[in-house]
Order: sequence, then structure tokens, then C-alpha cells
Amino acid sequence: MPVVIDSDCINCDMCVPECPNDAIEMGSAHYVVNADKCTECEGFYDEPACIPVCPVDCMTLVQE
Ligand code: SF4
Ligand code: SF4
Repeated sequence: MPVVIDSDCINCDMCVPECPNDAIEMGSAHYVVNADKCTECEGFYDEPACIPVCPVDCMTLVQE
């Protein structure tokens, strides 16, 4: 269940240093989450660390 970043992303960089797995990287137009690396922060935090720091609320935890 990775986090997904939608096209509202303004490339502000706020989420990148929050990720303990280096899962957030620049895509073709905006930042994207590498689903192979995102663990929802399991083992590091109780909840995804990236979502609360996003100023435009464009990060969503996808439920599978
Ligand atoms: S939920 Fe955690 S591991 Fe996944 S992208 Fe966000 S900060 Fe990284
Ligand atoms: S914090 Fe939100 S707006 Fe900023 S780069 Fe990350 S996903 Fe994009």
C-alpha cells in the first residue's frame, strides 16, 4: 500500500527528507513515490511521515 502523489504536487521538496526509505523521487513532471521502496514507514513511524508535511495535500495512502 504505497503512498501516491497526484498532479497537484508543486515540487516543494518538503516530503523528500521525511522519507526513511528514499522512496520519493522526481518524476517527469512532479515528485513520485517509488512503490517498491515505500513501506508506509513501517518500522520507522506509526503513520506515513510524508503525508502530513505536504502543503497541498496531494499525497494519498492507497488502500489495496
Ligand atoms: S509513507 Fe513513508 S516510506 Fe512511504 S513514501 Fe512516505 S515517507 Fe516514504
Ligand atoms: S510535499 Fe507535496 S507538494 Fe511538496 S514535493 Fe512532496 S508531494 Fe509535492
